[in-house]
Amino acid sequence: MLIDTHCHLSHERFASDLLDVLSRAASAGVGGVVSIASTLDDAVAVRRLLAELPEPDGDAPTPRCHVARTAGIHPHHAADIPTESRRRLLDELARTPRAVAVGECGLDFHYDFAPPAAQRAAFQLQIEVASETGLPLVVHCREAESEMTPMVQEAGEAGVPGVLHCFPGDLKLLETAMDAGWMVSFTGLVTFRSFDGIEAVQRVPDDRYMLETDGPYMAPTPHRGKRNEPAFVPWIRDKVAEIRGQEPESVASTTTANARAFFPELGF
Ligand SMILES: [Zn+2]
Ligand SMILES: [Zn+2]
Repeated sequence: MLIDTHCHLSHERFASDLLDVLSRAASAGVGGVVSIASTLDDAVAVRRLLAELPEPDGDAPTPRCHVARTAGIHPHHAADIPTESRRRLLDELARTPRAVAVGECGLDFHYDFAPPAAQRAAFQLQIEVASETGLPLVVHCREAESEMTPMVQEAGEAGVPGVLHCFPGDLKLLETAMDAGWMVSFTGLVTFRSFDGIEAVQRVPDDRYMLETDGPYMAPTPHRGKRNEPAFVPWIRDKVAEIRGQEPESVASTTTANARAFFPELGF
């Protein structure tokens, strides 16, 4: 079984056929998906979406995969987060079904949709919330490697586990993440001709990486340009296996074990 550790199931591009998406995932061997929230309102939307799903092996014509959720604030939405954000986030994380991680949070200086200071403050707040709740962090980092490094180190020293998602392959940041006890996860980016992080995929230890689609974005080759969905994880698994010189089955079993270890409250 495979696990898609990062997908945005509340995205409008999944609104019309979500159950089909989850059934196709199950048919493709993807037994579970972690649905990632981008804002506090989105976290509520993700929670409601989960509550409305039929049972995984219920009356639907085909079984669906399992779904877990996170709650957090993406750096794109970090501008002017209100002072009650901490309380709202803590409250949202604890609601049923309980969130399995804080995020996605982090730093994105590529788009700069929010001022850097606001991004740092929102990220810091979520590191503290992760520390307080004992939940792991799902972290987004784009063109912010040097700013990210000390924050990962500090979180690691504080015993807060995290994953650098959609990891593009920066070797220095990989080393920092490994030293901090963190994970990285790989998307369809590894299948792109332009991918230049091959060494990072080869170097990361067996027990320190996971797979994800980041759907609806980042569809792997041969689906590039289409909506990405959890059923596409096998293409990412196969490319990672090829780069690491391992069997696809062993990449599947190690990454699933890693996901279960990283998200202790996953439940599947
Ligand atoms: Zn992201
Ligand atoms: Zn994402």
